[in-house]
This record gives sequence, structure tokens and C-alpha cells, in this order.
Amino acid sequence: MRTLNRSRLEQLLAKEENLFLNEHPRSKELYERARAHWQGGVPMLWMTRWAGKFPVFVSEARGAHFKCVDGFDYIDFCLGDTGSMTGHAPAASVKAIEAQAKKGITFMLPIEDILWVGEELERRFGLPFWQLALTATDANRFALRMARHITGRPKVLVYNYCYHGTVDESYITLDKNGKQASRANNLGPQVDPTVTTKVIEFNDVPALEAALAPGDVAAVLAEPVMTNIGIVHPDPGYHDALREITRKTGTILIIDETHTICTGPGGYTAAYNLKPDMLTLGKPIASGVPAAVYGFSKEINERFWNKLVLEDADVGVIGGTLAGNALSIAVMRATLEKVLTPATYEKTIKLAERYEEGVISVIRKWELPWIVKRLGGRVEYWFRPIPPRNGGEAAAAIDFELDRYMHLYSLNRRILMTPFHNMALMSPETSEADVDYHTKVFGEAVKSLFE
Ligand code: PMP
Repeated sequence: MRTLNRSRLEQLLAKEENLFLNEHPRSKELYERARAHWQGGVPMLWMTRWAGKFPVFVSEARGAHFKCVDGFDYIDFCLGDTGSMTGHAPAASVKAIEAQAKKGITFMLPIEDILWVGEELERRFGLPFWQLALTATDANRFALRMARHITGRPKVLVYNYCYHGTVDESYITLDKNGKQASRANNLGPQVDPTVTTKVIEFNDVPALEAALAPGDVAAVLAEPVMTNIGIVHPDPGYHDALREITRKTGTILIIDETHTICTGPGGYTAAYNLKPDMLTLGKPIASGVPAAVYGFSKEINERFWNKLVLEDADVGVIGGTLAGNALSIAVMRATLEKVLTPATYEKTIKLAERYEEGVISVIRKWELPWIVKRLGGRVEYWFRPIPPRNGGEAAAAIDFELDRYMHLYSLNRRILMTPFHNMALMSPETSEADVDYHTKVFGEAVKSLFE
């Protein structure tokens, strides 16, 4: 089995950093000027974490490709970390944006399209009642508030190394001794999350039983497959156990489909017949126009409604002036009706299989102790020989330098990967040629490391 030469990796990374710097003078110039007014030179601080000394500035994007201001054309396997899973600027969504923008953008009043969208959401996810938010973060925050309000219970439960957006309660991990602790990047918490939250490992049924037994947890907030510390699949039977234990203890089960929507038109929930009480989804649902939904069962709706005082409906810490804006709704309709269709998924899943096969062929050729994981149209390779079963194991497998090298090597050959892990997402516009080019570049990156 091959081992990695770290000093060689260091040299190779330095070489790629130089190449990046030399080839992107215009991005560099814009970045340096932006530093005068933007924290870290970027509109969102985490953009400083892209591999390379600065992010490339985008000039335009169409389908599965974008161009940067230095004139290069990239294959985009990041797709706005799922926000552009539809491909960039899909024709039906652009048409809906133009049409609705001419008719008005936001009213604090509904438009007729909510009828079609509500019916379609029930068809896809099996839950009858829906509300809108602008981001998946907010959808999760509002779902948790509803759950605590209904149950009168103070706590929520999440998995170790989960990510559900900037939801305060979720910034909690298990430390080396298995003790609950605030997560390292939890900046300026308003409340210590160990007060609001219980955290357990994914796939740990006894831990789930123990955490829910006291009856103080309002809701479990769960990705059905973990995707934010890499792809971690549930063990066979795990979801049955999760549903049974949450039901038995009166705990509301919230499934966050924001990333797992890559599984199929109804997300992992429909594909695997899950029966959550609530479901949240943001990012691609309106082709990247800010929009998110949270849905709930008839029972949740009744329990919430029974506790609602009409005078308080506008100050419930649930909502937002722009949340139900007409533009988001109109584009959501176009996205669901014409873009994220069953035919699209057939295509993206096939592409992801092709991508997976390509990466596996390279791993085999070089006899690497690496593996590939796939979830619908999303694929990822790991620098470890067996799949992690939970967030703790997954976090331990992260190799920051190697990740950075693989990203930058790809970027310098005009491929953008999802930041922070080695993940690729297929869009309906991604081509087989795009996928095969990735296989070639991945093979060359591996060769550079192990030759
Ligand atoms: N849920 C999941 C599963 C996510 O991966 C993310 C973002 N990566 C979010 C929620 C939050 O999405 P947003 O940042 O758009 O609010």
C-alpha cells in the first residue's frame, strides 16, 4: 500500500500556489482592491478558505461551467455548494425571474403560484403543510422553534460534526473524551450550546435511546445522510430505529434535505420512504435565488395552530419580511416544474456513477488506500481505506494539506471542486466529457503525488 511523502506534498503545493498566482493577475488585483472595504477582501469570510491565496472572481456562468475574470473556463463541480445544482442560469428559471421581476418582487402578500408549489411539495416529500424562509439556516431555525414551542421541551439533538447552517444550537461536538463541547468555530455564542443541545454520533442507536429517554428533547435535527463532514451513509436499519425512538419518546423528527436533495426529486426522504414530522430544504429549490421551505405533518400543524395567538403571529421569531417574496415563489415553481425534474435526476445520477467509476479506476491503478462515496448526483473521495460510520471518524480522516493540493491542482486545470472536502456535484448540464476530464486530471494529480 502506498504512503504519502509529506515533504513532496509540501513542494507540490507550493508549485501549484505559484502557478495559481501567476495565472490570475486580474483576480489578484480585484482581491487586493476589495481588501479596502471587505473583511478579508471577500464578501463572505469563509471565501478566504478556498485553495489558492485568493478566490477567483467570476465573470459569468452558464450550465455546468463558469468563466473567471482572467478569461479561463472552468467545469463547476461545486455548483455554489448545491445552490446551483440546477446548473447556472437554467433557461426556465431565468424566464421566470424576468417575468416575475416585471410584475413585482415582494409584497407581503401571496401570489397564485403558492398553490402549485404547495401541492408539488406534498407530492415530493409527503408532508401536507409548508412555510417559506430565505435560507436553509432559517428553515432549520424556524422548524426548531416550532418544535420547542409545540413540545415545551428545551433541548434539541444533533449529530457530531453535523452542519445545518448558522443555527446556534448545532455548533456542538463531542470532544476527545466523548464529552459535549462547543464546536471550535463557534464564534461568540449567545448561549453555550451544551445548554441547548445534545450531541451524539450518527449511527449510534444506544446513544440516541439514552439521549431521548429523559423526554427533554423537542426535536432531532438530522441530515438523512451526513454530507458536511463528507458523505456518511446510515447503517442499514438506522432510519427505522431513529423513527421508532423519536416516536416512542414524543420527539419531533426534522429531516434536513438541503444537500441530500441530490438523491432524487423527493430527496432521500422519498427515495428511502422516511416519515419525518418536519422537513427542511433550501439552496437549489429556487435555482439559487434565495428561498427555502420547511414542511410539517397534519399533526404538527394542528398542535402549532392550537397554541398560536393571532396577535403574536407577526412577532413569533419565525419569518422575515422577504421570506415569502413573489420572486422566490415564482422561481421555485419553475425550478420544481421544469429544472429539478425526474429526468434531470436520471441524468445526474448516471453522471455521478461515471465520475465514481473514473475515480475508482485511478485508485485501483495506484493501489491507494482511498475510497469513493456517492449519494445520488454527489460523489466524494476519501483518504482512508474504509468508510467512516460517523462524524467523529470522518473528521479524523481530514487531511488539510492533501485536500488543498487536490483542490488547487484541479483548479489550476480548470476544475472547481466543493470547498473543504473532495466532493463533486453533477448538474443537468454537466457532460460526460466534463466527467472524463476530471478523471484524467485526478489521475494526473495522483501520479504527481505517488510516481
Ligand atoms: N442544511 C444543510 C444540510 C447544509 O449543508 C447547509 C449549508 N451547507 C444548510 C442547511 C444551510 O444553508 P444556508 O447556508 O443556505 O442557510
